[in-house]
Order: sequence, then structure tokens, then C-alpha cells
Amino acid sequence: MEESVKNAKLIWDRCLQYIKSRVNEQSFKTWFIPIIPQKIEKDTLTIQVPSKFFYEWLEENYLDILTEIISKELGDKGKLAYSILINSPQITEKKIEETKPDKKSNFEKKISTRFENQNYFSKKYTFDNFIEGDSNRLAKSAAQAVSKKPGETSFNPLMIYADVGLGKTHIMHALAYETKLINPEKKCFYLSSESFTSQFIEAIRNNETQEFVNYYINSDVLLIDDIQFLTGKEKTQEMFFHIFNHLHRYGKQIVISSDCPPTQLKGMHERLLSRFKWGLTTDIQKPDFETKIAIIDSKLIQNDIKVPLNLIKYIASSINTNIRDLEGTIVSLIAHASLNDSQINFELVKQVLSNIVQKVETEINIKYLQKLVSEYMQISEEEMRGSSRKKEIVIARQLAMYLSKNYTSHSLKSIGEYFGGKHHSTVIHAMQAVEDMLATEKNIRKQLSAMTDMIKLKMPQN
Ligand code: ADP
Ligand code: MG
Repeated sequence: MEESVKNAKLIWDRCLQYIKSRVNEQSFKTWFIPIIPQKIEKDTLTIQVPSKFFYEWLEENYLDILTEIISKELGDKGKLAYSILINSPQITEKKIEETKPDKKSNFEKKISTRFENQNYFSKKYTFDNFIEGDSNRLAKSAAQAVSKKPGETSFNPLMIYADVGLGKTHIMHALAYETKLINPEKKCFYLSSESFTSQFIEAIRNNETQEFVNYYINSDVLLIDDIQFLTGKEKTQEMFFHIFNHLHRYGKQIVISSDCPPTQLKGMHERLLSRFKWGLTTDIQKPDFETKIAIIDSKLIQNDIKVPLNLIKYIASSINTNIRDLEGTIVSLIAHASLNDSQINFELVKQVLSNIVQKVETEINIKYLQKLVSEYMQISEEEMRGSSRKKEIVIARQLAMYLSKNYTSHSLKSIGEYFGGKHHSTVIHAMQAVEDMLATEKNIRKQLSAMTDMIKLKMPQN
């Protein structure tokens, strides 16, 4: 027995040397150092890994290397067996809590304080105050069904897509909130894909990848908002893919939102997209007239304010963008009225609408910038994303890329994706070309400055 352990260690050390030369340092530290060689019997080397996830990750990412080195060391009949230290994440977690309540990893502590501070299931967003209409009925009822039985319905994953301001975040919070209400012991994690990315990057930096993984594979419900920000972020997508698979395999619920349908999520791995199809994908449309009236009405009731129906109708028909703008209008009306101690009347409504309707049409994202530039430069959005080399189209495309770089946080790669899958070097080239034009062409300077003025109008006032 002793001998078998010793031999296992010897052989594994040799394997490690080889593996080290084949993978990068970070991966080596994360995925190979934690492995403990256990025994060698006949032609089988048994290694102990910290979790099932760990094992799955090795099999999916390093199978080639492992097979190669095992047959090198143990011959053709050589086999590798895994012993998994922790089979079910749930049980381990409990054990840790029972014996050493303070034995949370640094990562876990950091994350949980961050969440507590954020108070991240906002009680403001519940199903009760989510007004239902034809535009959002399916999304709402699917979310409600999920909150009653997370992971047990066929809506797994549940993917909700809609333009900005139509209630995705509201529904996700409501789902998490309701789940906790029914099942307080369920672990629900809500975060945007941007937070997911930055936490992952931080984890890599601090050598805490394994902690990061353990943290999220422990969730019962994982809600990732605005998944579109994962486009072009290869490594994060990869990590999300594995966490996703793991959760799905163990019947845990995944909920995702996006600002466009999966087919339009350019720069997203096909294998990740195909996973989204396993469950239910549903959209939220712009609210119809009746729903808008109901939403305005409910906001007024919450604030105990009465407004004549014809005015409510006027507001509803004036706002055709989204519910966020609708809400903004009501909040603004209430503020004006209470400030001047006056009634909400037609004059006030007109005044408030004139500020809101033109200002907050859309958020500043690449799509908006493409639309802005194509309208301003009078080319179509197809041409903008296409590959025509016509001069005026190229210039418009370059300007839009330039603005995207300056007014959004997208990477060069991701910007390229939005422009019909251009290479990031094309984007770099556009930056340079615009700088050159700005230096020499007055006309372009004027056009760009007019467009930036329009963008600034839409930026939140500081
Ligand atoms: P998104 O995440 O899709 O951009 P949000 O969920 O942030 O949109 O919604 C924008 C605002 O509109 C929020 O304040 C939300 O409460 C409100 N809202 C959206 N849909 C509804 C609805 N059906 N009923 C009531 N309020 C809504
Ligand atoms: Mg949102």
C-alpha cells in the first residue's frame, strides 16, 4: 500500500513536469497543483481532485495532454482514475459552516460583503408591481413558474431578451426575490455579465479561480443580466460555459437576459448559444397602449396622486420608447407638481414631455451610435455593417467605430463584431483614419462634433 502511494507520487511528479511544459503557468497552478496523487494499481493511476467540477474541467480541457502523458508513463494500457474529494458542493458547504463558521474563503467573504452592501435583490422589483400585458406576459409567467420550482421546470435556462428599459432587470430581481420568499435556503446569485467578468478577472489576478468557480457552482439559481457584454470575452465565456454546464447537470436554475435575441449575439461561442436553446427563450416587446396606461396608473397610485384619464392617455401615447422613459416622465411630473405645489395639468405634462421624449430615446450603445451616424451621414445601417469600400460608407463606418470606442466600454474586438464581424485591426485602423481626418478635414471635424453633441445630450447629467 505504502509502496503504491509512493509510486503514484513519483509518477505524478513526472507527469507534472511534462504538463508544466505544455500549459501556461496560470492554468498549471489552478488545475494541476491542487491534484493529489493517491495510488497506482496495475496500470491505473488514481488522482484526487477537489470537486466534480474540477474533474469535468480537466476532462474537457486537458484530456489530450493527460492521455498522452499517462500512456507515456504507464504504457498503452495506462489509465487515469479520479477520486473526487467533494462530490456534492451543497454538503461540503454545510460541513464547513458547521465546523468552522469562519472558514469562508477570502473570495467568498469579499463577494458576500459586496453583495450585502449592494442590497442586490431590490425589493422595489417584485412580481406584484410588475404590470402584465401582452408584451411581457410570457416572460413574467415563465419567471414566476421558475421562482416556484427553480431548476425543475423545462424553462432551464430561462433566457429573456428585450430592448433596454422594458423590464428584464425587474423580472430577474422579482424572480430571485420570490424564490427566496418561498425557499429562503436557496442560494440565488444575481449579477450582470460585466460584474461576472470583472470578478473573474480579479479572481485570476489573485489566484482564486477555483474559489470563483466553487462560489458560483454552489448556486441554486444563477441570474446573469445583460449577457451581451460577454461578447468577445473568450475566457470569461469559457468559464461561464463550464459553470453553466455544471449547474444545468445538477438541476440548478440559470436565468439570462440579453438586449437582443441569441441569434444576434455576435461574438458569442456557438456552443454557449446552443445551450440557451435547451430551455425557454422569450422576449419582452414594447408595451401596448393599455399596458402603458396601467403602468402609469400604478405609479400614480403608489404615490397617491390623481391625474385625469385624458392626461394619462396623452402621456401613454407620447412615449413610445420604453418603460424606463415612461417612469421617468411620471417621476418628473410628480417632482414638478410637488415643487410648485401645483396640480399635474396639461401644461406641465407638455413641458415635462418635451424634455424627456427627445432626450432619453436610447442608451448609448454601439447600436445607437451606428444608427446615429448612419442617419447623420445618410447611409443605411446595413451598409454601415457591410463591407462596401465606397468612400462615404467607409468614412461613416470609421466614424461610428471611433465613437463606439470613445463612448462605450467595448473592446476593439467586440466593436469589430458589431460591424459585421470585422477584425480588430480594422477598428484600430479606423481610429487612426479618423484622427488623421480630424487633423486635416474641417468638414469631418464639424460632422463629428455635431454628432458628439447629440450623444452628450443623452448622457446622464452629472
Ligand atoms: P431593462 O433591464 O430591460 O433595461 P428594467 O427592468 O430596468 O429594464 O426596467 C426599467 C424600469 O421600468 C424599471 O424601473 C422597472 O421597474 C420598470 N418596469 C419595466 N417593466 C415594467 C412593468 N411591466 N411594470 C412596472 N414597471 C416596469
Ligand atoms: Mg437591465
